[in-house]
Amino acid sequence: MQDGFAAPIMNKEHAEIIVDVAAFPVDREFHYHVPPSLQPSLHVGHRVMVPFGHRRVVGYVVGFSPPPEDVAGIKDILRILDEEPLITKDLLELAHWMADYYGCLLVEAISCILPPGTRAGGRVGMRTLKAFRLTGGGSLKGLGPKQQLALELFRKEPNQPLTAVSLEEQGIGRATLQSMVKRGILKEESLTVLRRPEDQALKRKHQDFELTLEQQRALSAIMGALGQNQVFVLHGVTGSGKTEVYLRAIASALRSGLGALVLVPEIALTAQVMGEFQARFGDEVALLHSNLSLGERHDEWLRLRCGEARVVVGARSAVFAPVQNLGLIVIDEEHEPSYKQDDRHPRYHARTVAMKRAALENAVVVLGSATPGIESYYRGQEGSSKLLILSKRVENLPLPKVEIVDMREELKRGNRTIFSRRLQRELAGCLGRGEQAILFLNRRGYTTFIFCRECGEVMQCGDCSVSMTYHQTEGELRCHYCGKTQPPPQVCPVCHSRAIRHFGAGTQRVVEAFKEQFPRARAARLDADVTSRKGAHAEILRSFEARQLDVLVGTQMVAKGFDFPGVTLVGVVAADTVLNLPDYRSSERTFQLLVQSAGRAGRGPDGGVVVIQTYNPHHYAVLTAAEHDYEAFYQQELSFRKSLHYPPFCRLVRLLFQGENEAEVQSAAHLWSRLLRPKVRRRDWEMFGPAPAPLSRLQDRYRWHLWLKVPPEGPLSIKELLSECAAQGTLTGVNLSIDVEPSFML
Ligand code: ADP
Ligand code: ZN
Ligand code: ZN
Repeated sequence: MQDGFAAPIMNKEHAEIIVDVAAFPVDREFHYHVPPSLQPSLHVGHRVMVPFGHRRVVGYVVGFSPPPEDVAGIKDILRILDEEPLITKDLLELAHWMADYYGCLLVEAISCILPPGTRAGGRVGMRTLKAFRLTGGGSLKGLGPKQQLALELFRKEPNQPLTAVSLEEQGIGRATLQSMVKRGILKEESLTVLRRPEDQALKRKHQDFELTLEQQRALSAIMGALGQNQVFVLHGVTGSGKTEVYLRAIASALRSGLGALVLVPEIALTAQVMGEFQARFGDEVALLHSNLSLGERHDEWLRLRCGEARVVVGARSAVFAPVQNLGLIVIDEEHEPSYKQDDRHPRYHARTVAMKRAALENAVVVLGSATPGIESYYRGQEGSSKLLILSKRVENLPLPKVEIVDMREELKRGNRTIFSRRLQRELAGCLGRGEQAILFLNRRGYTTFIFCRECGEVMQCGDCSVSMTYHQTEGELRCHYCGKTQPPPQVCPVCHSRAIRHFGAGTQRVVEAFKEQFPRARAARLDADVTSRKGAHAEILRSFEARQLDVLVGTQMVAKGFDFPGVTLVGVVAADTVLNLPDYRSSERTFQLLVQSAGRAGRGPDGGVVVIQTYNPHHYAVLTAAEHDYEAFYQQELSFRKSLHYPPFCRLVRLLFQGENEAEVQSAAHLWSRLLRPKVRRRDWEMFGPAPAPLSRLQDRYRWHLWLKVPPEGPLSIKELLSECAAQGTLTGVNLSIDVEPSFML
């Protein structure tokens, strides 16, 4: 409810507060008395300081209501921390939904919607807000009701500016204020200069081309839906111009006074993408990603909150950005697993959150990808989302020709190098013609792992059940999770073959091997190691774009979404690493990685070739990717999912138990399975386990899990389920984490 000018006077004597203490027993609202002096300026969404036990803690105002009668000793709010409420009502509602859906603490959900860096208790510099004040002039004839209302507010204290945020809280929007500025009644003030991220973007020229017919159709469908809640799946082959559709849809939203939110996978949030948006929308764009300092992110957040920026481009957590009057959410590469936060609470999926947020704020969602997630495409097929298709590349560029190379054959013929003979030939040709190439690895590998080329066995850590990586300088295998080391074996422990090799899966190894064969070519690698240095990423891309480099070696993680017309050859060095993971999504991931890599080739006039090196040349994910046939892949994958009753035919929830003592972990998992069983049955859900997780040990901790299969639609209140069990399910020495729709099953 709005406690503004036009709304009935709200009783603000008592506030409902969520305290910033992350613990299950205090995961609820507490009532506090609001001292009369604070009542006029306190709003829902404000941060306050409150006494709590023997401490003072930060709290968040989530409502106003009298305390239940039996509660004694209601305490006073001590002070208000920020001039303006940080949290909007819509986002607060989103946080409530998150806590319920993902089973996290409310305060954990709220921390997502706070400005970056606020949780620690830092003061938010609201000095930066946009404000308006009376000029004393202008024509007052024929003012509309909203304008009248605004005028009366200003006249209460005629010499004081009022911030755009506070006016909006009272129901006076930007358009009203702007019209009064035009009439000369108000003038606008910007209270400070904000820290803007320095311009590290590759500035792109604004190109004005005619949209293709398919682009036009997609765009007008999206434009036609603005102002309503509607989800679109934009399935566009690589190079079909999806970005252009986003850009124009955003421009259209802005023209209608609506804000827009664009999510891009973290690592793909490159200079190229940002440059594109900045070139088009200038200062209307705020950027939110991890390469910015906390201060920069904080100020970008504020520019959105006060309406100075109306578009945000950011990574996963930007889904919570306080875009005003949100009309459009774009999720680029929507299939990317990095949209799932899986290392800490709340374990949310930005796509799921975006769909919920759009429903709350009446916005359009566009899920774009060349390889839509099976779940998204399924929703498009059965009609709850609308499917938009860009089947051709722009300017009728052909999709590149894809060659599959069977690496087992290479070995038989005595080729023990990283590159197949085919790939070597193509590289020589490409470089000879002065063209560019990209070499991809199917894994974020900085080192190599050891592999039996006869039977495919990968040497694993006995403690962590993950593959160990080979460190050449020390000549030993090392586990990246627990640090254990051992010498590489001479024979395969499974088939006793001596064909044990270190598999050149590291980008560094590939660069070295490449330089051995092509000493005069200029090669660089682009991976998480290299790009953790600020600006390094952009630098490498810039020199590749300027053709100061011939070959780029990287992981798809890093190198997706680029558009380099000079690239005519793409080599996928190792296609299989993901395929063999014990995860129901491994085929989907492999297909996506292959198609995305292939999509980097042949975006210029010289066409392109893709070489995929694999030990599984007949796998349907590899074969359909080589044909660029999403539909064929989707059909096969869907029938596999259906037969095993996996998503999209259900939603998965995983309860993971971890601890140092295996017996304790196991008995905790069993205890919870007994507690959950009747509750799960009553809801008509299914439960599996308890069982050891595929990664049964990690960093010296044992891991067991339980799985729930929940119907794909309908409410999913994990919070409720947990609280039904919590009283008897207290665990000591074992950590329980809940993951709704996990990205990985490992
Ligand atoms: P996608 O994201 O679908 O892989 P991009 O958005 O990267 O494709 O588009 C590929 C290239 O085509 C970009 O350089 C873009 O500027 C250009 N482009 C987009 N639409 C058109 C069009 N209608 N005509 C000509 N070029 C276009
Ligand atoms: Zn280990
Ligand atoms: Zn073997």
